[in-house]
Amino acid sequence: MQSSNIGRYLAQGINTMRQDDPALYDILEREHERQMNTLSLVASCGGTDASVMAAAGSSIVNVTAEGYPGNRYHAGCAYVDQAERLAIERARRVFGAAYVNVQPHCASFANHIVMQSVLRPGEAILGLALDQGGHLTHGAPVNLSGRLFASHTYGLAADGLIDYEQLRAQALQHRPRLIVCGTTSYTRVIEFDRIRAIADEVGAFVLADITHIAGLVVAGLHPSSIDAAHFTTTCTFKQLYGPRGALILMGRDADSVSDDGKRTLAERVQSAVFPMMQGSPEVHTIAAKARAMGRLLEPGFRELARRIRSNADALAAAMAARDYEVIGGGTDNHIVLFRVHPHINGLVAQAALESCSILVNKNKIPGDLRGAQVASGVRLGTNTAALRGFGAAEMALSAQLIDTVLRHTSVGPQGEVLVPETVRDDVIGAVRDLCQRFPLPYAALDRHADHHAAAHAAREFA
Ligand SMILES: *Cc1c(COP(=O)(O)O)cnc(C)c1O
Repeated sequence: MQSSNIGRYLAQGINTMRQDDPALYDILEREHERQMNTLSLVASCGGTDASVMAAAGSSIVNVTAEGYPGNRYHAGCAYVDQAERLAIERARRVFGAAYVNVQPHCASFANHIVMQSVLRPGEAILGLALDQGGHLTHGAPVNLSGRLFASHTYGLAADGLIDYEQLRAQALQHRPRLIVCGTTSYTRVIEFDRIRAIADEVGAFVLADITHIAGLVVAGLHPSSIDAAHFTTTCTFKQLYGPRGALILMGRDADSVSDDGKRTLAERVQSAVFPMMQGSPEVHTIAAKARAMGRLLEPGFRELARRIRSNADALAAAMAARDYEVIGGGTDNHIVLFRVHPHINGLVAQAALESCSILVNKNKIPGDLRGAQVASGVRLGTNTAALRGFGAAEMALSAQLIDTVLRHTSVGPQGEVLVPETVRDDVIGAVRDLCQRFPLPYAALDRHADHHAAAHAAREFA
C-alpha cells in the first residue's frame, strides 16, 4: 500500500501528545486498556473499529461547513460535500430510507429537531413514560420536550408489554400531534404498524426513536420503523457501532406535504436541523458515520447482528438457569433485564460487578418500588459481546461470573459494597482471560501487520 498522509499525521499526533502532554496521554492509554480488559454488558454501548475512529480523527475536522452539500456558507467544502453525500447515500441503502439527515449531533437533539419541525409550543405529545422505559426526550417533565409541549404518557401492561390499548385510549383522550415510541430497556418487539394505525386514527405524527435496536432493524431482525413512522431517529454509537452522533430518517412520508400546505415533511426536517437548531455540522463525525454505514453494508454485519440476538438468548437462558427472574421471560433484542437478589439492589449489584471488571447498569423493573437511582433490576446488553465474537459458551460463562459476584456481595454498615477479595481476584482474572481470548477488533490490530505499519509511521515522525 502507498504510504498514507493522514496515517502519518495521526501517528504524529499520538507521539506529540505522548511527549508534550503525558497527563492526557496516560488517561487515554489507560482508557484503552480498560476497554480491552473489561467485560462490557452495557446495553447502550457498542464499539467502533479502528477505521471508524481514524475517520473521526482525520484532518477533515478542520472544515467549517454550515449548510448542506452544494449549498454551504463557506468555501473549501468540496470534499466535505462528498463525505456527507456518501454518508447519506449509504445510510439510505442501509435503512431503505427515502430521506436521511446525517448532521444531528446526538439522538436527544435529533428528537428535539423532529419535534421542532412539526410542532408548536404547547401542543400535545404522547410518549412512553420515563420509568417504563421511555427516554428523557420523549416528553419527561425534566426535559425540554416536557417543558415545551403538553406531555402525556402511556406505559407497560402487567405482562410487561407495551399497553397498546392504553396508548390508544390516551391518544383518543389527548389528541396528540405526535406519538413517540422507542425505548431504552424494552426487551420485546415494538409494533410500529400498530402505533401508526392509532396515530392515523387521531391525526398524529409518529416518531420512532430506534436508538437501541437500530442494528437489528438494519439486519432485518426487528420490524423496520422507516415506513411505519413519519420520522425515525437513531444514535450512531450504540448498535450501529459508529461515532457519537445521530441520524434522522424518513420513508414513505418524506414527500408528503405537511399542514403548512407548502413544504414536504422532509423539507421541514431539513430546515429544522439547519438553520433552526444546529450550526456547522461535525464534518469529521459525518465522515465516521459514512465509514460506519459502509461497515453496515458489508455482509459481515448481518452475522454480527445475528450474534447480538443469539448471545442475548443464551444470556437470558443462562441467567434463568441460575434462578434469576428474567423480566418478560426472555428477549427479542439485545437486552436482558433481571431482578437482583433481595439482599442487594441494582445500584449495589452494578458497583460490585464493576469492582470485578464486569460493566452493567442498574435498571428499574416493572412495578419497581425503588427509584431509578437505586432500582431492583440490572440491564445487560450484548452489542459489545457480539463484537468480541462471543458465542453461547462465553455468555454462559458471563452469567456464571455475574452470579458468583452477586451471590458473594454484601453491604457493610456504612453502606459500602463488599465483595470478598478472593472472589474479586478470581473473577477479574477470568474476565481478563476471556477478553484476551476474544479481543475487541481494535485490540486485535496489535496482532496484525497494521500494527507494524502504524508503528513504522509513528517512528517516521518520532
Ligand atoms: C441512548 C438513547 C438516546 C440518547 O442518545 P444521545 O445520542 O446520547 O443523545 C435517545 N433515545 C434513546 C431511546 C436512547 O436509548
